Amino acid sequence: MLNCVDVEANVQITVFLGAPGSGKGTQAKKLSLKNQFVHLSTGDMLRAAIKNETALGQQAKSFMERGELVPDDLVIQLIKETLTQLDSSKHILLDGFPRTVRQAEALNSNPATQVQQAVLFEIPDDILIERLTGRRVCTQCGQPFHLKHMPPKLEGSCDKCGGQVVHRSDDQESVVRKRLEVFHSQNKGLVDFYSRHNSLRKLDANLPADKVEKLLFGILQ
Ligand code: AMP
Repeated sequence: MLNCVDVEANVQITVFLGAPGSGKGTQAKKLSLKNQFVHLSTGDMLRAAIKNETALGQQAKSFMERGELVPDDLVIQLIKETLTQLDSSKHILLDGFPRTVRQAEALNSNPATQVQQAVLFEIPDDILIERLTGRRVCTQCGQPFHLKHMPPKLEGSCDKCGGQVVHRSDDQESVVRKRLEVFHSQNKGLVDFYSRHNSLRKLDANLPADKVEKLLFGILQ
């Protein structure tokens, strides 16, 4: 059934909620360097599908370019397929999923994929706009940069892997504003959902990244 994320094994899942640019992807990537965590980003998976010109990528592309959400059925199916292939002994960090209450319900509808906790990364919109419009990302390894705060040493080239560093088309200001509008329209429902079903923890994502990392690690222990 498409509405239900249907996996066999019990997995430990934490969802990261927060606006685009709130740092949830960066923190999840860092945590995934520690052995016990796996980072799953639906945004990264969808971008890979577009790059590889899969059927999913073709269906998702226009929604993403406009800063809109990809339809629930497609994303739920994607997460379902991915979760079934994962090592169930790991702690899964879901970044960018769920984005709607329907997606949250799909995850919680199976006892094997109950979310242990949801962490909300809170940060003001004006800071997000500055972060996202200045953000640059390596197309090869996903390493994020910022034109002002953390530019690549060699313009256009990733410090880590030498891959191409680009401005994502959905990080253009008009699209960023649309993505924030979409985020605010969905977020209250998700916060209510996780306040009722799981422990919702709020995090000041405007603190320096190393402080956010420490606080987050404390929450996840
Ligand atoms: P992100 O990298 O998480 O900011 O996601 C980039 C774009 O991918 C979003 O603006 C959406 O178009 C799409 N996307 C990612 N995750 C989801 C999701 N859970 N539901 C619907 N669309 C998504």
